[in-house]
Amino acid sequence: FLTGKTAVVTGSNSGIGLGVAHRLARAGADLVLNSFTDRDEDHALAAGLAEEHGVAVRYVQADMSKAEDCRALIARAERCDILVNNAGVQFVSPIPDFPVERWDAIIAINLSSAFHTSAAALPLMRKAGWGRIVNIASAHGLTASPFKSAYVAAKHGVVGLSKVTALETAREPITCNAICPGYVLTPLVEAQIPETMKEYGMSRDDVIRKVMLERQPSKEFATVEEIGDTAVFLCSDAAAQITGTTISVDGGWTAL
Ligand code: NAD
Repeated sequence: FLTGKTAVVTGSNSGIGLGVAHRLARAGADLVLNSFTDRDEDHALAAGLAEEHGVAVRYVQADMSKAEDCRALIARAERCDILVNNAGVQFVSPIPDFPVERWDAIIAINLSSAFHTSAAALPLMRKAGWGRIVNIASAHGLTASPFKSAYVAAKHGVVGLSKVTALETAREPITCNAICPGYVLTPLVEAQIPETMKEYGMSRDDVIRKVMLERQPSKEFATVEEIGDTAVFLCSDAAAQITGTTISVDGGWTAL
């Protein structure tokens, strides 16, 4: 049902972004994939997705930590009916020791990029007469954990930005919402396992069960496919009046 639409997914050569890209392509959308790298594998990934789903897929390099790159990504896409702001990074440290450059990078990539891409995409959506902005926030957009100051602040910011975007587009056939995943086993989460094993002197299994899934009552990771299907739902006609809100895909985390 998304045939003829073009979706731009930031940070989509891995993890949730790639999962969302697959589901949007399966629903018929043409795609612009993105990350900050420009490797043969990135372009091969785009070709593979195009072949698998029979849609047009381009890979566009752009660094979501830079305002001008964010805006250039949308300009190079030319069409942007669906914008999925997904690029994100994590860093864990107590506040007094939190490196300033890490704070700045997380706020830029996880929050400001969504502002810049939205600013560039809204005029294109208005011209096309339809649009969907799906911001990938987090359970950490609604709750907090110690040592994740920049990430939690950025994700709460993404939830706020989604509400403002929804209000500014409320009278138009454009919606903006935030998906708030709990733990999804992607490279971002995988990278946190060794540190946590060291910190708590725990095995990999114990880190997964006792630390990561401790707050996820389902005791299961959410999957990138589930996040992708939620994004596809938000692009459907059924979701036309869903705007300015959050959808948690977190196994009950935020119900606690
Ligand atoms: P990931 O590390 O697999 O993917 C992150 C993506 O962002 C990659 O494609 C990476 O290349 C891209 N990226 C990083 N820096 C970039 C930059 N400067 N410019 C452009 N692209 C950049 O991680 P993921 O788990 O798939 O995370 C995707 C999003 O989902 C993030 O916003 C993350 O905060 C959010 N999220 C993840 C989880 C989880 O448990 N995995 C939970 C909640 C929210």
